[in-house]
Amino acid sequence: MTVKCPVCRGLQIGKVGTDQYYCWNCFLEFNFNQGHTNIFSVAEDGSLVAMEDAAAGQIL
Ligand SMILES: [Zn+2]
Repeated sequence: MTVKCPVCRGLQIGKVGTDQYYCWNCFLEFNFNQGHTNIFSVAEDGSLVAMEDAAAGQIL
């Protein structure tokens, strides 16, 4: 299965955990949960900050 970034559609994806991926282009982590894409920005301290679903068009 080829994983694409849900934000930029890029293929520069690294796997960082079980079903958890990182886009080297956007510097975002994301995972897929039953067809729902969850996107996280990575804070300077390394913690993850949840962002709204891309499909909702509401990026905080
Ligand atoms: Zn990306």
